[in-house]
Amino acid sequence: MAAPPPKKQGTTNTYRPPKNTRAIVLRCALAAVVGTLLFFLVRPFFIDIAPPRPSETPETSAPAETEEPSEPPTPTPEEVPIVRYGGVVEQLFFNQVIAYPALAFDGDKYEADFDRYKLTADEFKRILQSLYDNNYILVNMNDVWAEERNPAGEYRMVRAALMVPKDKKPVVLSFDDINYYDSERANGLMQKLIIGRDGEIWSYGKGPDGNDVVTQDLDAIAILDKFCREHPDFSLNGARGCISLTGYQGVLGYRTNTSTTDLSPEFEEARQKEIAAVRPVITKLKAEGWYFACHTYAHSALSKTKLEAASADLDRWMREVAPLTGSTQIVTYPMYNRLDGKDTGTPGECFLYYQSQGFRIFCADGKEAFSKLKESVSAVTVDRMLCGGLTLRNQRERYSRFYDAKEIWDDTRPLGVRGFTRAWE
Ligand SMILES: [Zn+2]
Repeated sequence: MAAPPPKKQGTTNTYRPPKNTRAIVLRCALAAVVGTLLFFLVRPFFIDIAPPRPSETPETSAPAETEEPSEPPTPTPEEVPIVRYGGVVEQLFFNQVIAYPALAFDGDKYEADFDRYKLTADEFKRILQSLYDNNYILVNMNDVWAEERNPAGEYRMVRAALMVPKDKKPVVLSFDDINYYDSERANGLMQKLIIGRDGEIWSYGKGPDGNDVVTQDLDAIAILDKFCREHPDFSLNGARGCISLTGYQGVLGYRTNTSTTDLSPEFEEARQKEIAAVRPVITKLKAEGWYFACHTYAHSALSKTKLEAASADLDRWMREVAPLTGSTQIVTYPMYNRLDGKDTGTPGECFLYYQSQGFRIFCADGKEAFSKLKESVSAVTVDRMLCGGLTLRNQRERYSRFYDAKEIWDDTRPLGVRGFTRAWE
């Protein structure tokens, strides 16, 4: 509905008050002058009987709570000082999330592992919101350490000067096995990452009825990517997460792997098409702030692997995966198996082989974020904390600084059947 037109005030555009109004204005002005004079005459009397301000009572050690009633300036986000962070950089890691819990928690042979190591999409979203609400900020793992040459001329890893907004706590998020394995595709997880018509990262999969689904809400990478776009201050310098890849079923949902049994030209032709299709996805991910890690080629248990097998596995990763992702200095151990047993002690021959191939950051899992700079070789070993059903069910206290498992918990998880419990019951 349109507003009524304003009343006309004569023929000109200037407003002149009527004569009786002018008289009222003059009287008001006179009253104001008299009032001001009276105020200054009696002011000393009021000051004498006023109570002392808290800052004038030195007996108390409590800080003065009330100063002058002037409004403190509200700092804008740009005004938060950036400071060097010297504390522990938290490290949380995830696996791909479950898109359709009814398909994952169906009592089959995969159910227990999916429950232990994975989150549902809803749980993952709630964790991101909780991290954000608790003032965590994403940082790139590559920015936490740096390689420097010491006075003896040797290169060693050192803690980098990590600069963060004063009110924020840095956290590194990493995502293991973002390969979209056949077993996951068949059990309620998405199928691959794609670039949508809007140029952003989306995921493609099949719904419970076999229908095509393209979404940013059911896949860990797409969910975090979207969350960072909606909350730019959740990310330091545009950092996203670390994507750990094996190679034996390709990468990111594209079957880029070679076969030792099918040597047909048809297989190779299909493989080359997958390679061509995944390249723009990787380019987009890197432009968004994602970065990659080696998770071995065959998801190998490295603590039990001899040098010959470990080096052959890594060489295959370097031939098939590194040319797509680019080189990386990060390795994440599959199945929580450290290289050469105790990697915090003297490095073994498998560890040294990885190091000789350019790896500097060696990630295991642990109960707390932990890191140790190697003294004898340029490398740092890191422990990351698992976010999955295992820790949701049993380690609520340990994760309470990040989120409350009770609030994160998805009721679609099995409970009270087939031995599934949770510790806070
Ligand atoms: Zn893994």
